[in-house]
Amino acid sequence: MVSPNVIHWFRQDLRLSDNPAFVAASDAGNVLPIYILDEINSKELAPGKASRIWLHHSLNSLKKSLSGHLSIYKEDPLKILINLCSKHKITDVFWNRCYEPWRIERDKEIKKSLMENGINVHTFNGSLLWEPWDILKSDGTPYKVFTPFYRKGCLQSQPPREPLDTPEKPMTYNDGESLAVSDLSLIEDQDHNHKLLQEWNIGENGAHERLSNFLEHGIENYKKGRDFPAEPYVSGLSPHIHIGEISPNQIWHAIKSIGDDAETDHFCSELGWREFSYSQLYFNPSLPVANLQKKFDAFPWHENKQNLKAWQQGMTGVPMVDAGMRQLLQTGYMHNRVRMIVGSFLVKNLLLHWHHGERWFWDHLVDADLASNSASWQWVAGCGADAAPYFRIFNPVTQGNKFDPEGKYIKKYIPELANLPIKYLFAPWEEPADILEESGVKLGDTYPHPVVDLKESRQTALDAFASLKKEAND
Ligand code: FAD
Repeated sequence: MVSPNVIHWFRQDLRLSDNPAFVAASDAGNVLPIYILDEINSKELAPGKASRIWLHHSLNSLKKSLSGHLSIYKEDPLKILINLCSKHKITDVFWNRCYEPWRIERDKEIKKSLMENGINVHTFNGSLLWEPWDILKSDGTPYKVFTPFYRKGCLQSQPPREPLDTPEKPMTYNDGESLAVSDLSLIEDQDHNHKLLQEWNIGENGAHERLSNFLEHGIENYKKGRDFPAEPYVSGLSPHIHIGEISPNQIWHAIKSIGDDAETDHFCSELGWREFSYSQLYFNPSLPVANLQKKFDAFPWHENKQNLKAWQQGMTGVPMVDAGMRQLLQTGYMHNRVRMIVGSFLVKNLLLHWHHGERWFWDHLVDADLASNSASWQWVAGCGADAAPYFRIFNPVTQGNKFDPEGKYIKKYIPELANLPIKYLFAPWEEPADILEESGVKLGDTYPHPVVDLKESRQTALDAFASLKKEAND
């Protein structure tokens, strides 16, 4: 009987097309495709609630594409791999590289042990356009500013490789002791699961469907349209990219194939921001927990559980912030413009530590990604690389007026404000009592009073920052 002689270990690459390690494994022999949920090494960085739901469905979809040939485990990956290699007389193990610091450490150990056991290990780049260690300044150090990183570093090095085809009829097998996807217990809350399934078509086919849709209806208005959260001009590809249902190379080349203009250039530069986040994480493994700019270690953060809860639940009384936080709870996603607004509100108006925002996003975003999430929160807080200056405090009222001019986004996620005249929609506390009453809104009852005064809290934040600068100069 024919049996597998190589393993492809699926990790953040849950797809068959443009999968360099899977292609190489299929060329090398009869493949045992496996997935291991690693809750031993990931610790507090294990996927959050929304990501676990996504993972459940993505694994089911991948398993279907492999005609059921995906063996699934839940223990220590090293132990599982050593056992499988010995049981099936495996000679070679293939995987695509991951870049989270805990995975790098783990994979180094696993590679060493497998090689000590006489097994060949082959690793590939399946999730980045450029390896972090290939994009360095002329003095050999990593870039700290996005524009030179992207324009001088990325665009002037090798162009991203062309996507690879799906292997034709790969010989794949199952291990008799595989768990079922449901044995991983990834779905805690059925209601949450149903909400996410209403929004997303999870899996490799869903990712390509979304890309085609974006190429047809979104990209032509991307540069300007990407800032308007009620409009359909962003791709929504981030959760598919994060888990590897589609590769950045497939997206890059699909975008470039429709032309080279301001829209496509801008979109590709956003993929560049993802690369920049990975570069930051690779060269600063403590990015998820430690300020990149050390002077922020002395920042006088507040602790206020009530305000944090109001922010998390979309009940701050500031509509643009609440709409974003409710979009997150309902869909597992939040538009980028609104991520910046709610982030600025948390760290600047509420003066709550960016870690609170990073952790909440980690648990609730379907695209929660260690590199992009940590780098973006440090950017919002002003303590990261090439960060928004601390004195740039988004005004959620002005931002709403500018980027949700008809109030469509706010009304969608805060239906209790649907009858407010647009003039007061972004700041209902300024609305005359009779108009509020006519609109069916009772502040403090049907919708909260704002938890802070925007002007005062802005000044408090600026003073806190000034105290930091003073300390740094003393
Ligand atoms: P599009 O505009 O269609 O962009 C296409 C792709 O480019 C995205 O899918 C993403 O892979 C990449 N991209 C776009 N903008 C950024 C950016 N600023 N930084 C890094 N990559 C980018 N993105 C995540 O993927 N995971 C996160 O956990 C995450 N957390 C964030 C937290 C905060 C506070 C902020 C401000 C941003 C965060 N982002 C994160 C970045 C960005 O908001 C999302 O990538 C984007 O909103 C995803 O939507 P989209 O796919 O429709 O984007």
